[in-house]
Amino acid sequence: MLTLAFGGVFCIEAIYNFSPAALDVQLGVLVFTTIFLGLFLHLQLPRTKIHLSISDAMIFVALLLYGAEVAVLLAVTEALVTSMKLRLRGVNLSALTIALNGATTAVTTFATAAIAGQLFGDMRAAVNSLDYLHVATMLGVMTTTQFLFNSFFVAVYTAKKTKNSIWNEWHQTSLDVLVIYVCNVLIAAIILYAVISISAVLALIAIIALSTVFLTYRRYVDDVKTSAAKAETAERDRAEQAEKHIEELKHHIHEQDRISKALRESKEKFRHAAFHDALTDLPNRNLYIETIRFLLEKSRTTNGAPFAVLFLDLNRFKTINESLGHSIGDKLILHVAKRLSNLIPDGDMVARFGGDEFAIILNKIHSVDGAVKFAELVSDKLSDPFTLNGKQVFTGVSIGIALSDPAYEDAEDILRDADIAMYYAKEKNRKYEIFDKSMHARAVTLLQLETDLRYAIDRDELCAYYQPIIDLDSLVLTGFEALIRWNHPRRGLVPPGEFIPVSEETGLIVPITLWMLRSTCRQMVEWQKLSTLNQSLVLSVNLSGKHFAHRDLVSQVHNIIVETGIAPQCLKLEITESAVMENAEMVTSMLKQLKALGIQLSIDDFGTGYSSLSYLHRFPIDTLKVDRSFVSTMENGTENGEIVRTIVGLAKTLGMNVIAEGIETIHQIHQLRILGCEYGQGYLFSRPVPSEEALKLIESRDRWQQFIPSSIINIPAQKHEVRHLRLAK
Ligand code: C2E
Ligand code: MG
Ligand code: MG
Repeated sequence: MLTLAFGGVFCIEAIYNFSPAALDVQLGVLVFTTIFLGLFLHLQLPRTKIHLSISDAMIFVALLLYGAEVAVLLAVTEALVTSMKLRLRGVNLSALTIALNGATTAVTTFATAAIAGQLFGDMRAAVNSLDYLHVATMLGVMTTTQFLFNSFFVAVYTAKKTKNSIWNEWHQTSLDVLVIYVCNVLIAAIILYAVISISAVLALIAIIALSTVFLTYRRYVDDVKTSAAKAETAERDRAEQAEKHIEELKHHIHEQDRISKALRESKEKFRHAAFHDALTDLPNRNLYIETIRFLLEKSRTTNGAPFAVLFLDLNRFKTINESLGHSIGDKLILHVAKRLSNLIPDGDMVARFGGDEFAIILNKIHSVDGAVKFAELVSDKLSDPFTLNGKQVFTGVSIGIALSDPAYEDAEDILRDADIAMYYAKEKNRKYEIFDKSMHARAVTLLQLETDLRYAIDRDELCAYYQPIIDLDSLVLTGFEALIRWNHPRRGLVPPGEFIPVSEETGLIVPITLWMLRSTCRQMVEWQKLSTLNQSLVLSVNLSGKHFAHRDLVSQVHNIIVETGIAPQCLKLEITESAVMENAEMVTSMLKQLKALGIQLSIDDFGTGYSSLSYLHRFPIDTLKVDRSFVSTMENGTENGEIVRTIVGLAKTLGMNVIAEGIETIHQIHQLRILGCEYGQGYLFSRPVPSEEALKLIESRDRWQQFIPSSIINIPAQKHEVRHLRLAK
């Protein structure tokens, strides 16, 4: 406020004391230069915040040439015009700030004029006398005064804003202000010299010319600045761009890292999946084989310890899977895997090959006994029940053991041998079996047999033999059982016992049976056409239990009956007792359908299996064939004799007839007749013979009556009496 008051007073005082006589061209030039050129002629010293303006210098000139009043008015006017210009350019300057600016300028100029006036008296005279030293001294004093006042005011205002001490602010800004004043005084000295030594007008022209040069220079400086700014902006843009690129690069690298990590992980997963079983997470066949390969290599190069390979196959797994469902089947496999993992010693391996097959490697076994003991342990542990979904499920295991041997060249070979041994164990219903070379030889033979059998039908190598079935009452031919033979190109006539089991395992049994049915039915029809006597002959054909798994069985039989034209009642299908009883439920329905075709059904090898009487009662069976093991050892009063008697009695009760197989002696005929067995079959009557010979047997159908004295043949009643007596007992 004080500044404003003093400023106002000094302005009023200047206006009051201003003499219009002072107005001349020179003053006009001075005012023009100060106010208008001053607006444009200012320069920022490079690399500083210092702004130089011609106006400040002109104020000194005005003070020296026209005294305090003109200098104060000119300075205040210039300050106000400059403030207005800044405001027009958008700088936020309040009216108070502008007034304060003007007041400060008034005070500073007035103080300078007062002090210089006191010290030097009439300054204009000194200037006109061209006493340069005097003028320089005056300028020096004026500059110092102006500097001190101005820097003081600047420090006060700044301190007020920044809340710093006035001294601190003065200390920081004073150097800039001093430089401004030193420059101003130099410019003022030059202008003053120009005004005095030339004329004011010429000085003005010179000033204008200089101004033009100056402005051109400034434009140049501005251009330089602009291009520097542009360059700076471009540089900044480039830096930003580079930073952005670096960021993007970082992002890319990060992404790359993430992708390669994911890739590594999925590679790991694939690797794991390639060597592990998905259900149990145990090692799979690949890893197992690799491990055996490694162990074999080790045992060859470093005489490593012997090891054993165990091949395991669960018993009844298929039945469990089919009857209880696949999810229970999977659970069973998981439980088995867990039990096995708990059993194997550290450093050994248990693997799953899929299905119900597992394999174990036992390292460092010292003898066969070690492997055998372990196999027994595994077998015991796996025969304990498993509780799955609250149900107790029983299984068991068949184990094949193969011991390492330097002779093994490939891992697959030792595994194959353990597999063969496992099949032996299964076949013989044993817990385990140790591989020996004869097993391999047999396996190879079987494989060869299987291969040959596949071509046997096409190459017409199969043929049917016929064994007569005789009525034991009349000893007359009643029909034949057709028995298959394989006319092998190298091995000669192969009996069915050697290839029927293989054909059952491979599924070849179905086409073989159909071939057999078709050709023998055709043959029988041919025979029947020969004579009306033959029309009652019955053809018995064996049917494998495996064939019942084929839904088409009934329609296949039906088609063959139609195709060959055989009378259905002349065809009898024989099914073994064990095949019928194993799948009693399913077989019952199939048997009924077969029966509905009008054919006869017979249970073969009766007495060797475990027939359930309730099933037997429900089956639509016509005939029981007593197994030849009972007939061959049947003596009067022996246990087997009793069994035959019981079977005959049972058959009668169930409304079936009985055929005795394997009759080899006349004595057996006698006994069977006494027991009431209606039919017989055996080497005594005839071995199975080819069709040509069978025809001869048809032509002499009663040739077997020679076996029994005519007195016995003619007393059948006695036989029945005996039978009833025995049954009653
Ligand atoms: P099977 O059906 O019980 O046939 C009776 C077997 O006993 C025949 O053996 C026959 O030659 C033999 N045999 C008959 N009488 C006597 C005798 O007095 N003493 C002795 N020691 N044996 C006698 P084969 O022909 O070797 O047939 C064996 C088994 O092969 C048959 O037993 C049958 O189960 C099966 N088989 C034969 N042909 C076929 C066929 O076409 N299909 C099917 N699925 N199995 C067949
Ligand atoms: Mg048979
Ligand atoms: Mg039989």
